[in-house]
This record gives sequence, structure tokens and C-alpha cells, in this order.
Amino acid sequence: MANSRYEYVRSFERENILLPQSHIVIRVDGRGFHKFSDHYDFEKPNDEKALQVINEAAKQMMVTMPDIIMAYGDSDEYSFLLRKDCDLFERREFKLITTFASAFSAYYQHFWTKWIPGKPLDLERLPMFDARAVVYPNAENVMDYFRWRQVDCHINNLYNTTFWSLVLKGGMTTNEAENRLIGTLSADKNEILFKDFGINYNNIHDMYKKGTIYIREYTDFPLSKYLEDPTEAHLKRLMKRVKKSTIEQYHCDIIKDSFWTQRPYLLL
Ligand code: ATP
Ligand code: ATP
Ligand code: MG
Ligand code: MG
Ligand code: MG
Repeated sequence: MANSRYEYVRSFERENILLPQSHIVIRVDGRGFHKFSDHYDFEKPNDEKALQVINEAAKQMMVTMPDIIMAYGDSDEYSFLLRKDCDLFERREFKLITTFASAFSAYYQHFWTKWIPGKPLDLERLPMFDARAVVYPNAENVMDYFRWRQVDCHINNLYNTTFWSLVLKGGMTTNEAENRLIGTLSADKNEILFKDFGINYNNIHDMYKKGTIYIREYTDFPLSKYLEDPTEAHLKRLMKRVKKSTIEQYHCDIIKDSFWTQRPYLLL
């Protein structure tokens, strides 16, 4: 760009470079999706098609941004884990979060049209997402971050499943259902579901209970070799040998250690 006498205004700009060699997690969350889901008549408590839309948007993020190695999402949110040594946009925070928010919003709209063609989006209620980036210094923090989101998914889903059973099957008003659930523990909600509505919570679709996980997976990763010498240096050497990566979808438990120990490369 040509220099001009006005160029100096650029020096007022601020930049925040995210800490190098640390794990970046970027979370996007839908703006006002409580109203958005009402407006487009989402099935309650879980609209499967809407979840397919957000899931495909998340997968597309991974297709276009190879630095994303894992994504976890439920409801109207998705978290993306970037490789520890990634240099996407030189780790500039504002560039990262604004790009994630706008790319995600654009993909969501694209896949909405694919999955829900019968409900064209209205100009006054278009899907929009915000984004934030958080930097975690070690692997334990990263695992706990994803555990935190999955526990949140579980708590919300159990609440919403019970709440909407009381309303849709039990004939309560939303106020009555809310009052009925005040002070109840998980066990109480499970009991309401089972005794009043014959629903065994365990049998509910894992996508609703556990959310959706995408992993850039190395199927040819020599896990047994790594376990003989589980050091970072060895992991790095082994990673040079793995060739094939695919993006795989799961609805599994990410709270237990086994999810992470089977895939040490996620935290490299
Ligand atoms: P970055 O992602 O870093 O912003 P960029 O390729 O978007 O990279 P910009 O400096 O933003 O780089 O430049 C945008 C470019 O897009 C312009 O240089 C021009 O080539 C092209 N462009 C944008 N709008 C138009 C338009 N209406 N007609 C023709 N070309 C356009
Ligand atoms: P904010 O703009 O602060 O994020 P919000 O209304 O989006 O406000 P959230 O806490 O993000 O609030 O909650 C999202 C809400 O969207 C959920 O509580 C739920 O009601 C609704 N929702 C999102 N996805 C689905 C879905 N697939 N099926 C049914 N409801 C959904
Ligand atoms: Mg939201
Ligand atoms: Mg949300
Ligand atoms: Mg540009």
C-alpha cells in the first residue's frame, strides 16, 4: 500500500499476540440462540437438524484450517483447539477471533440452507456467533477445559430434557416446570424422567448427552511404540512418520483419561 501523510493513524492500532508454545482454544457461541431457536421452531429439548448444521459448520472450519486439531460442541457453541506450535495469523488474537466468528457464521448459514431448506433465514434473525480465545499453558488445563464443556453439556441436557418432558408430555406451563425443578439434583431429574415419563436418560442419544467431538485423527499412529517411551521428544519423532489424517466425528466421553491417552498427539 502506498504511504501517505495519513499513514500515521495506523500506529494507534493495538495487537495482542497470544503466548507462543501454548495451547489456544477458541470458542464460538451463537448470539441470542434462545430467541433464534424459538423463532425457527427448534424441536425441544434438542433439534437434531440444527445440531447437524452447527456440526457441519465446525467440521468445515477444520477442513479449511489445518491448525485446528480438535473441536467440541453442543447447543449453540463450539470450541476449537489449535496446535500448540501453530502460527495461524501470527497468533494475532483479534485476527483469530474475528475470523473464527465470521467464518463460523458464514458456514452456519451455508449448512442451514442445506439441512433446513424449508425455513429460509429471515434478515432480522440471521445466525451470528461471537468468539473468544483462551491460552492454556499445559495439557492438564486443556483436558480440563474440554471436560468442563462436556460436563456443562450434560448438566444442561439433563435439565432441558426433564424440563421439556414436564411441559410437552406432563402438560405443565414453563413456569410450573421451572418451579418443579428448583432444588432438584441429577438423581431427582433422572427419577422424574423414569417414573413420570418412562424415559431412561441413559438411552438418550449420545450426541445430546455428550455433545460432538471432531478430531484430526492419525489412524496410523503407533500408540504402542509411544507407550514404551511416552516423552514429548519421542512423540514428535513418531509424528513425523504418521502420514494419514482424517477428520473423525465422535459423541464419546472426553472426561475420562483414556480419551486423551489414546491420542497423545492432541496435546503435543
Ligand atoms: P487479508 O486476509 O490479509 O485481509 P486480502 O487478500 O483480503 O488479505 P486485502 O489487503 O484486504 O488483502 O485486500 C483485498 C483485495 O481484494 C484487494 O487488493 C483487491 O484485490 C480485492 N478486492 C476486494 N474488493 C474488490 C472489488 N470490489 N473489486 C475488485 N477487487 C476487490
Ligand atoms: P447469548 O447471546 O448470551 O449466548 P443465548 O440465548 O444464545 O444468549 P446460550 O446460553 O448460548 O444463550 O444458550 C443457547 C440456547 O439456544 C439454549 O439454551 C437452547 O435454548 C437453544 N438451542 C441451541 N441449540 C439448540 C438445539 N439444537 N435444539 C434446541 N435448542 C437449542
Ligand atoms: Mg448463545
Ligand atoms: Mg451457548
Ligand atoms: Mg482482506
